[in-house]
Amino acid sequence: MQKANILLIYTGGTIGMVRNEASQSLSAFNFDALLKQIPDVKLLDANIETASFPEPIDSAFMGPSHWILLANIVNDNRDKYDGFVILHGSDTMAYTASALSFILRGIDKPIILTGAQLPIGILRSDARENIITSLEIAASRYPNGESVIKEVCVYFEYQLMRGNRVLKFSSQQFHAFISPNYPALADIGVDVKFNYENLLSARNNNIPFQTQLCPDIIAYTLFPGQSHKFLRKLVESDEVRGLLLITYGTGNAPKDYDFEASIRSMHEADRPVVNISQCYSGRVRQDLYEAGRWLQDLGVISGKDLTREAAITKMMYLLGDEETSKSFRHWMESSLAGELKP
Ligand code: ASP
Repeated sequence: MQKANILLIYTGGTIGMVRNEASQSLSAFNFDALLKQIPDVKLLDANIETASFPEPIDSAFMGPSHWILLANIVNDNRDKYDGFVILHGSDTMAYTASALSFILRGIDKPIILTGAQLPIGILRSDARENIITSLEIAASRYPNGESVIKEVCVYFEYQLMRGNRVLKFSSQQFHAFISPNYPALADIGVDVKFNYENLLSARNNNIPFQTQLCPDIIAYTLFPGQSHKFLRKLVESDEVRGLLLITYGTGNAPKDYDFEASIRSMHEADRPVVNISQCYSGRVRQDLYEAGRWLQDLGVISGKDLTREAAITKMMYLLGDEETSKSFRHWMESSLAGELKP
């Protein structure tokens, strides 16, 4: 078999940052400097080519335009490469991974996002291992030449996880990401051990490829004693296209006059309201308690076991297209790229 061709794409993040002498804060640095720190990449059994954002950025600045830029780089090069590794800041990596999993769900090649908690130039950095192993996984193929991984993933600290199932859990530990509702796709020790039964194979590709995303949504986190009068004012504006409720436990919320009126006014304007939980692990079951049932009775859509990152980007994605927004409830409740258990 010929060597795998991999495209390594640099977007910025701590992995390639240097400390600014004057301000003492970290800022993104250029890609060539980063590559010089890992000459051993050449030893891998793969042809590696590189691409970079013109200006590497802290991932706090990432948004739909960057996701679309990345999706287009992958889509335009889908026949040229066997896999893609994206170097990305860890802060919003889960959002980018989720968004790409929807936009690129028709691409059955490995698209692996990774980064680091310490810049590559620092002796104890986790960058080298994260990059080398991500490249190795992206180059893994079956004897018939098919890629083992056919989905968007996040690789961090010896674990390969489904991209739309992860969240950043620690800003301190090298073990920065968790995937509370879905098991690891591969565990890395002396060997790379793929958990074949967890990998995505067939997926729902029945909606057209589209790169329009709608950012006009509100993510609304509940807390006890909250006043909902501000929400009511906000949803009265025509510009709010979707509302994501981040509720308690299995999807529960107190019945409050302004809160209920806000949900009703979204429904009257035919704009979706989705319910996910503040708990990282478990799923929404609006029928379990009275405190959830009233939301279900109002037509609130269950976000099931979606992460916040996947719920937000999926809403942006579905509302970005006229066709998918018409059947929003159907697509929101279905799995497009393994992001939820129906
Ligand atoms: N602030 C950085 C970023 O997300 C943190 C990191 O890369 O770990 O770009």
